[in-house]
Amino acid sequence: MRYSNTSQPHIVHKVQNSTASIIMTAIATLGSHCSLQVLKGAKDEGLKTILVCEKKREKLYKRFPFIDELIMVNSFKEVLNQKCQSILEENDAVLIPHGTLIAQMSSDEIESIKTPVFGNKRILRWESNREMKEKLMREANLPIPISVSDPKDINSLVIVKRQGAAGGKGYFLAANEDDYNTKRNQLISDGIISKDETLYIQEYAAGVLAYLQFFYSPLKEELEFFGVDQRHESDIEGLARIPSEQQLKTNKVPSFNVIGNSPLVLRESLLDEVYNMGENFVKAAKKLVSPGMNGPFCIEGVYDENAKFTSFEFSARIVAGTNIYMDGSPYYTLLFNEPMSMGRRIAREVKTAVESNQLGKITT
Ligand code: ATP
Repeated sequence: MRYSNTSQPHIVHKVQNSTASIIMTAIATLGSHCSLQVLKGAKDEGLKTILVCEKKREKLYKRFPFIDELIMVNSFKEVLNQKCQSILEENDAVLIPHGTLIAQMSSDEIESIKTPVFGNKRILRWESNREMKEKLMREANLPIPISVSDPKDINSLVIVKRQGAAGGKGYFLAANEDDYNTKRNQLISDGIISKDETLYIQEYAAGVLAYLQFFYSPLKEELEFFGVDQRHESDIEGLARIPSEQQLKTNKVPSFNVIGNSPLVLRESLLDEVYNMGENFVKAAKKLVSPGMNGPFCIEGVYDENAKFTSFEFSARIVAGTNIYMDGSPYYTLLFNEPMSMGRRIAREVKTAVESNQLGKITT
């Protein structure tokens, strides 16, 4: 391993792993969320791999031999710096966006990235803004829970959310206006949410959680259904493990902070509707936010007792729930005769686009 002694950001070359790739394009991503899966998939496709790595995580990421190069930074925001972007440009890198990019940068910052971003970077603004998100979901005809614009109008169980991809942290349930104010004030005094933060209130949808993962290929003009996961959230799940007597005695506001994911397969009779929802979403995105929903995305919601799906959220990029299928998912086993993770599927699309001179079609 070779260290450069330039000022930040600097590169750590892992020379022994730089396998000669026929295609010069590199896959780059931020070191967090699903970066291991993304870079392993890229390496499996014979592409060079680059990780933008925060110093505090260097030890972790150096454990993985499929990462060719680490760009060391103090904070992910440095990806916006000229120096970091030049390194990516020299490598003809395509940047794969994920939840950490959205959580740590504003939509304006993301849109200012010069490095080609896989998929549609402009749709990430629609993911981060609750009103735009709702507009796109309506256009896609997704059955969404009613949103409540004024806490005074809360008359059934609601979930209160923060803007952007907060991963459920600081979210809370409320049954009426008083309940809302008490919990909001408590979270403000605990420093979890700020006083002037605009919160989004939505009717609570009860049922079996299902996060439907898709990939839309603009090259093939085809939608693929990849898999389903469930999120495990703390400490709302912890609360369900204690008897109601103890639940009633606690003052703590339970959060929906995601801790991990587990796999789920659906009743086969639900699949047709799943494809329809995915296709409607792709169609709506094409109409509202050019060039549309290219690459991986996820429609998130619950199935009720009549197997009716209600969708409370979408992610317009790879979700961390795909990490459970690093060796391929049950549904991709039906489409590919080789282990195909979402990370590898992305790299395959990049490779195909480079080979056919269509990189502009899959990046923004
Ligand atoms: P991410 O961007 O990481 O997916 P997020 O911060 O945008 O997350 P949501 O996915 O909207 O947050 O919500 C977080 C969690 O809250 C969900 O996983 C789900 O458990 C719960 N949740 C959100 N909306 C609803 C709803 N309307 N009804 C029931 N549960 C909900």
